[in-house]
Amino acid sequence: MATERTLSIIKPDATRRNITGKIIDKLESAGLRVIAQKRQHWSRDQAEAFYAVHKERPFYNDLVAFMTSGPVVVQVLEGDGAVAKNREVMGATNPADADAGTIRAEFAENIEANSVHGSDSAENAAIEIGMCFSENEIVG
Ligand code: ADP
Ligand code: MG
Repeated sequence: MATERTLSIIKPDATRRNITGKIIDKLESAGLRVIAQKRQHWSRDQAEAFYAVHKERPFYNDLVAFMTSGPVVVQVLEGDGAVAKNREVMGATNPADADAGTIRAEFAENIEANSVHGSDSAENAAIEIGMCFSENEIVG
């Protein structure tokens, strides 16, 4: 499988509970490499822009409020088939449906505060990485 890059975000519910290391351990154990990482506190504008694709969804306003409620850790992950591999280790959006051993099964609080974001396609990964990092912050 081809080497890919994907965007990962450790969400405010996880930074609040001081479990970023536990989540990164899951990512690294799955064979993903953290090739860029920074901690940020998003403004409303940043969160709205990032989740613009979900603008029409009923949960959009709550999601923006949640994503600005505390710090996030944004990351670029690299590895073989990194987009799908990250989605696999994350688990389903709703932790009640997430497979045992996945990040969301172990750590998510609920369907909204579900600890991590991961790009859903290589195309969106490139867009999301471009929104969060400049080239010189990514060290492969
Ligand atoms: P994923 O993060 O698994 O790709 P989506 O792209 O569908 O899921 O949704 C983006 C984020 O919006 C989710 O990770 C979650 O934080 C939130 N979300 C999704 N569905 C709901 C819902 N039904 N109620 C509340 N929040 C939701
Ligand atoms: Mg998504």
